[in-house]
Amino acid sequence: MYPPRFEYFAPAALDEALSILERYGDDAKVLAGGQSLIPLMKLRFAAPRAIVDINRISGLDFLEEEDGSLQIGPLVRHKHCEQSDLLSDRYATLGDAAPQISDPIVRNLGTVAGSLAHADPQGDWGSALLAMGAEVEASSSDGSRTIPLTDFFKGPFTTALEPTEIVTRVRVPDPGVRSGGTYLKLERKVGDFATVGVAVHLSLANGSVDHAGIALTGVAPRNMRASAAEGALAGAELDDEVIATAARLAAEAAEPHDDIRGTADYKRSVVRVFTERGLRKAAEAARKEER
Ligand SMILES: Cc1cc2nc3c(=O)[nH]c(=O)nc-3n(C[C@H](O)[C@H](O)[C@H](O)COP(=O)(O)OP(=O)(O)OC[C@H]3O[C@@H](n4cnc5c(N)ncnc54)[C@H](O)[C@@H]3O)c2cc1C
Repeated sequence: MYPPRFEYFAPAALDEALSILERYGDDAKVLAGGQSLIPLMKLRFAAPRAIVDINRISGLDFLEEEDGSLQIGPLVRHKHCEQSDLLSDRYATLGDAAPQISDPIVRNLGTVAGSLAHADPQGDWGSALLAMGAEVEASSSDGSRTIPLTDFFKGPFTTALEPTEIVTRVRVPDPGVRSGGTYLKLERKVGDFATVGVAVHLSLANGSVDHAGIALTGVAPRNMRASAAEGALAGAELDDEVIATAARLAAEAAEPHDDIRGTADYKRSVVRVFTERGLRKAAEAARKEER
């Protein structure tokens, strides 16, 4: 099916893009990688009057550490993350998530910021970035504001973004040297959305957990943090009992449903097993750095 008619804008500057959004409000949509928006338009689930294509704006594809955090620009593609040494080394939760997103065609075009703005509960970046304590910079013609990712996802395909705002940056705090993390994803076949995904991030100090981040994909109406599990880890020494307790709490926090990918009980058990496995892998990496 063809999408309904729309006006197409391809501004060369961010200010211009923001003023078009200001003009059209709810009737406009930003186009980044187009991997979610175009299918929705073709199916006529979305019918914006105006498309604001940001791909011709230069300088939006930065992926670098600056001011003590990782900065991800709005045109950073999944592929860029997959190939980044920085992510595979210091930000392993993100580095492990990137190659598990769909297939190479989607990864060539899809963006991290677009994935967050799309807010699919089965999106992988949402959980990986929640576990790492990321925040989003949202800009409009009136200026910029920072939204912690914990406040960003409101429900399925719904975020705290105003229609006039563009995600202009994702910030991820420096995890520190004694840290580790991973992203584990169960999919029915390569390229599928997650049946279950679990993102884990740990920072250690003096052998105990200084900070823990655990977030779940595909088992709630939005990417969610497993806060009780994180709380059980804070300040604890990571022994088998602590890991098992955190994994149980993460599974209890999940709100899965039966669907074609599996039953709710099955998904809950996968959350438990992946949380345990993820914590062991993250702890091993963090302890290596401690030696
Ligand atoms: C076959 C297929 C399989 C997929 N499998 C997976 C998967 O396994 N895991 C996964 O996580 N994702 C998967 N995806 C989704 C993919 O990751 C998309 O790339 C991503 O969800 C959206 O990014 P995009 O840049 O393509 O955004 P677009 O499609 O361009 O936009 C999506 C939405 O976000 C808005 N938007 C985009 N950028 C911004 C911005 N900077 N500021 C404000 N709003 C913005 C748009 O207006 C639109 O509403 C899959 C997609 C396809 C087609």
